[in-house]
Amino acid sequence: MKVPFTLLIDPVPADSVQSGFEDTFHEMESNAPALRVGELSTQRGDGIFETLAVVNGHPHEVEPHISRLNNSARICDLPVPNASQWRAAIAYAVARIPQQGEMALKIVLSRGVEHGPAPTAWLHAAEAADFTRVRSTGVSVITLDRGYPRGVAERAPWLLMGAKTLSYAVNMAAIREAHRRGANDTIFVTTDGYVMEGPTSSVVLRIDGEYVTPAPSGAILHGTTQQSMFEYLRAQGAAVHYRDIAVDELRSAEAAWLVSSVRLAVSIVALDGQLFPADLPLTGALNAYLLARTN
Ligand code: PLP
Repeated sequence: MKVPFTLLIDPVPADSVQSGFEDTFHEMESNAPALRVGELSTQRGDGIFETLAVVNGHPHEVEPHISRLNNSARICDLPVPNASQWRAAIAYAVARIPQQGEMALKIVLSRGVEHGPAPTAWLHAAEAADFTRVRSTGVSVITLDRGYPRGVAERAPWLLMGAKTLSYAVNMAAIREAHRRGANDTIFVTTDGYVMEGPTSSVVLRIDGEYVTPAPSGAILHGTTQQSMFEYLRAQGAAVHYRDIAVDELRSAEAAWLVSSVRLAVSIVALDGQLFPADLPLTGALNAYLLARTN
């Protein structure tokens, strides 16, 4: 019953059939040294990760996160993750952390140590930041050029667009740029003017009463929270679509949200310095739904 909590994991091959994985988990003191200097994750950001929420002891969307980890591994030519081992690691950690409140689990698969017995993997559990306020007040957002046109993922797969890699320096720089301009967060757009995603979130808009998000065609991540949001909206009878969204459509949308696993749904209340319409009652209902999930 403690956080932070760190588990080093000996990754086993995807096709390894074994009944238990506990002998591949090594619990660490969270402030103890755990990685070697030769780690390619730290030297080059050469690895992939997922962050999932655990609310009142329930890990959220484990399968979509494992499946996206698998997709990232494929894009990055990393060994296919053993889904059963990752499921077991998540369950092992969840059983050992506080069963009340909001926690965040980060799972990492690295290419490993240079010239070493690659790959390496770990899980880190920590208390989630308190996002209660921003969930009800919303965020001011700027649009920033991501520097690539639409379709870049297909033309240049070596850019690893669409993989959730550890190389988040650009994403963090975009958030700092937002802060420099007096805003809270960012929406990346393509050089030819299409909405992509936030540096740590998916973008969902309401246009003519329908909910839309850019298709996760390769240049952006397929957000697990966005998928849960669409499930919720569908159950309410709303229409939901994946499609290309021009920046001008964003500017004239009826409402828009940034959604992600731990912060959940936040309304956009200002866009590029202009007030933006927000649907705060829907945001409240949506977050109540997202928090109450038991899987
Ligand atoms: N897009 C990017 C670049 C992200 O980093 C994230 C989450 O960290 C998301 C989208 C949203 O994904 P999820 O809802 O699965 O957290």
